[in-house]
Amino acid sequence: DNAQPKKPDWIRVKAPTSAGYKETHRIMREHKLVTVCEEAGCPNAGECWSQGHATMMIMGEICTRGCTFCNVATGRPDALDVFEPGRVADAVQKLGLKHVVITSVDRDDLEDGGAEHFAQTIRAIRHRAPDTTIEILTPDFLKCSDAVLETVVAAKPDVFNHNLETVPGLYPTVRPGARYFHSLRLLQRVKELDPTMFTKSGIMVGLGEDRQSVHQVMDDMRAADIDFLTIGQYLQPTPKHHAVDRFVTPDEFKAYEKTAYGKGFLMVSATPLTRSSYHAGDDFARLRDN
Ligand code: SF4
Ligand code: SF4
Repeated sequence: DNAQPKKPDWIRVKAPTSAGYKETHRIMREHKLVTVCEEAGCPNAGECWSQGHATMMIMGEICTRGCTFCNVATGRPDALDVFEPGRVADAVQKLGLKHVVITSVDRDDLEDGGAEHFAQTIRAIRHRAPDTTIEILTPDFLKCSDAVLETVVAAKPDVFNHNLETVPGLYPTVRPGARYFHSLRLLQRVKELDPTMFTKSGIMVGLGEDRQSVHQVMDDMRAADIDFLTIGQYLQPTPKHHAVDRFVTPDEFKAYEKTAYGKGFLMVSATPLTRSSYHAGDDFARLRDN
């Protein structure tokens, strides 16, 4: 039975029409940049873009993995564009972003998984827009040597984010090709390499997980010294993607948030529309100013 549960009214999406949205769209096109906001059909795009928040995707639009929740095309990616870090930095500066999130497709075809390209992008943004805080949302560098992580950490992003995406029991159907403990260990190593760097991770719910396994993921994350947590409702991008098992209620999200703070996370966002990069800048500024 493939019947999908009906979307509840707490999953409300505002049409992206504001002037800020259009201007962001124009600058992204002009710089030939791809945003996750559009690619993933993120329900927050109208709100985020009108406030000048955006998540840019580097290293192309074709991914070497095929996660069943993700709308990015799978295949053989193009060669890296050496001018991309400069274009990203230019767009960040033109948009006047306070906080930028940089993410990428997975590049298992590259020996360093794109680590040096990430590092160059971070350095280019620092140079062009020194007041912008930088969050990176990286692939898992599963097939790379340990040294590639050092390359990325040495470029000193403010927040190092890597999503666990779901509970370990659902990895075979949701995130084939990834390894739960590898991803956890990656974040733990970031903290070991630079204890001043904030680490962050997130999961989607409504994929078929139970509450107990979500709590277990929180414990695993805290054992790996992860600082920030995001939990949001999974939405099926197209009928071909992993089905929505159920819509988690706002009250359940509140309970997750409370539990997570109790486990010692510094910052938690757990709401139906939470995305990995949702209001990331506001949260970071609040924390830094405390
Ligand atoms: Fe873009 Fe993230 Fe905002 Fe969604 S939540 S619109 S992906 S910045
Ligand atoms: Fe999508 Fe990332 Fe999975 Fe690639 S690795 S399919 S971009 S979620």
